[in-house]
Amino acid sequence: MRHLSALLLALATMTVHAEDKPKTALVLHGGAGVIERSALSAEDERQVRDALNRALDAGNAVLAKGGSSLDAVEAAIVVLEESPQFNAGKGAVFNAQGGHELDASIMEGHTRRAGAVAGITTVRNPIKLARTVMEHSEHVMLAGQGAEKFADSRPEIERVANSWFDTERRRKQLEAAQAKEKSGAAIVEKGKYFGTVGAVALDAQGHIAAATSTGGMTNKRWGRVGDSPVIGAGTWADERCGVSGTGWGEFYIRNAVAHDICARVAYRGDALATAAEDVVNKVVPAHGGDGGAIALDREGNIAMPFNTTGMYRAWIRPDGSRGTAIFRDDK
Ligand code: ASP
Repeated sequence: MRHLSALLLALATMTVHAEDKPKTALVLHGGAGVIERSALSAEDERQVRDALNRALDAGNAVLAKGGSSLDAVEAAIVVLEESPQFNAGKGAVFNAQGGHELDASIMEGHTRRAGAVAGITTVRNPIKLARTVMEHSEHVMLAGQGAEKFADSRPEIERVANSWFDTERRRKQLEAAQAKEKSGAAIVEKGKYFGTVGAVALDAQGHIAAATSTGGMTNKRWGRVGDSPVIGAGTWADERCGVSGTGWGEFYIRNAVAHDICARVAYRGDALATAAEDVVNKVVPAHGGDGGAIALDREGNIAMPFNTTGMYRAWIRPDGSRGTAIFRDDK
């Protein structure tokens, strides 16, 4: 009898410990857009899933040892920026002049600290400069030459020649876009801009952070800046909720998409999934835009809605289950 009660006590303690274990979660995207099964080779798909898994591992390694959500999203984004499959860092799209202008932002929910850079050309990992703006300047967003100057003052920020970001695949996309433009097509083609990367994490302290990094849109000009570095549009985090968006950036700015999702959770008490679904699948298309988003709340719930044919995405839930997905019918 005494053995039995000792056993029961031990079991009860184990259950309490399992429930006490702090929740962590991580969700990533690698862009939304027209992603057709027929157009993605088995090798391309393998490389995309491999990069998403490596980014999950990098972010999760931080969370698993009790690190901050801020460090976790930065670590995950760096892996994706270094992977030429995505439109961020190496592999970024070309602008109309045949160069690259990169945008990135990062935000920590419980402190509301944020940092962003726009139109930068020589920083190998734009997300690191965004974080440095947050932590080592009095500002939130730095753009263009001024941002480059700020990077000059930070020896820890690695610099590369602009051509370091070149890839053959993106050059072909620029050539195709410019040929179409000559024949009168619109500069922005709906659904043709996937590859932006984003991450949202919940750490063991219950804090949420979000980050986004991109090369923007192929053939962009006039210093065009999209939603990715705009806090509230492409990136948002607060005490309850974090979001990173991807899609036709102009519509994400005009609808303050990332903030709107979290505002619905905060002010209206919407469930995360409802808030994310309504903004991405109703508000954005109602105004003529398209794209997707990843969102996470402080319970570790994850939402990944998109209104395009596909969105590269990956997640680790609080129970440790993980996955990657590309198409709508991916499980
Ligand atoms: N939202 C990005 C932009 O407009 C593009 C993307 O998500 O792929 O710059």
